[in-house]
Amino acid sequence: MKTHEIILSDIFSDFSSLLKDEEKSFKPLLNSSPNIDADQKESTEKYLVCKTCENKITTIAHKIEIYGSFQHSFLNPAGHVFEIGCFSEAPGCALTGVPTSEWTWFPDYQWQVALCCSCISHLGWYYSADKKPSFWGLILNTLI
Ligand SMILES: [Zn+2]
Repeated sequence: MKTHEIILSDIFSDFSSLLKDEEKSFKPLLNSSPNIDADQKESTEKYLVCKTCENKITTIAHKIEIYGSFQHSFLNPAGHVFEIGCFSEAPGCALTGVPTSEWTWFPDYQWQVALCCSCISHLGWYYSADKKPSFWGLILNTLI
């Protein structure tokens, strides 16, 4: 019985070392020969993606300034600090809840919770107002 166990574990460790070698030999292949067209597209579009699932949320071209600044820091009623960035569009977001002005960080605006439409992570808020363009306030450390 004991001999069997030793043999099995020896086989297993041999097998896993084989796998590791295979992994090593594959890695350079994955990193080499980049698609030049895709790279060029990436540099002009500069997607910001969900940190959790890498769903494309918005692009740097959609950055906007609200009250004179792209980035804002806020403290919510529970005492959490949020660093948010303002975007005119965020096609990768879904909205939940009804617009409310309770605890709003931007006077004149009502907010709704913005979620990643792929993994439902909380990414920020959607701000809308009667006579001003709406925008997305996205938590910067939820995007990469
Ligand atoms: Zn996501």
